Amino acid sequence: MDTHTPHTHTHGHGPGCGAGAEAQCVCMRCGAEVAHVAGQPCRRVRCAACGAALLRKGSRHHQQALARQAAKAAEDAGR
Ligand SMILES: [Zn+2]
Repeated sequence: MDTHTPHTHTHGHGPGCGAGAEAQCVCMRCGAEVAHVAGQPCRRVRCAACGAALLRKGSRHHQQALARQAAKAAEDAGR
C-alpha cells in the first residue's frame, strides 16, 4: 500500500531527527541535562535536581524557552 509513498517512513519526525543522534533532555530551571530515553518524551520526565519538567534539547520548545529566558534576562538587566 505504501510502495509509492517514500516519505511515510519518517513517522512524523523531520529529517535529521534521531537516526542515531544522541538526544538530550534539558532542565530550563537549573540547566541539568540528562540523556533522552527513547519512547519517553522529555516533557514527561522530571528533573532529578529540581523537579521541573524537562525539554528536548534543541527542540522548538527548548529554543522558545531559551528565547523567553533571554528576553526576561534582558528585561531584568534593563531595570
Ligand atoms: Zn532542574
